[in-house]
Amino acid sequence: MKRGADQTSISSFFGTPSKRQAIETSDGKPANNSPKSTKHRDAFYKPWLQKYTWIVHEDDEGMFCALCTKHKQLPRNGSTSWIKTPCQSYREDAIRRHQDSTCHIVEIMLCI
Ligand SMILES: [Zn+2]
Repeated sequence: MKRGADQTSISSFFGTPSKRQAIETSDGKPANNSPKSTKHRDAFYKPWLQKYTWIVHEDDEGMFCALCTKHKQLPRNGSTSWIKTPCQSYREDAIRRHQDSTCHIVEIMLCI
């Protein structure tokens, strides 16, 4: 009977759960196969200049804050990064951290 054969092929096409036991990836694979390449070089991401208009990027130095350097506004914790020394961690969370810092917020209020 041809009709019966067609029905089994359709059901196998949609995947019967009894056939799934063939997938066994827990054993036999070398664990050290995946390369851990998290060591990507940090680089300045140019669209940040449009997003954070206060960033001043100096090549080979890092990022400065145009607002805070203007009035030499130093944060209370004594850190001079973004103002006297460039911020060299090219990560958006570092940018956001400065943006949310008190000295920067004060600077924005002074500018207004
Ligand atoms: Zn600032």
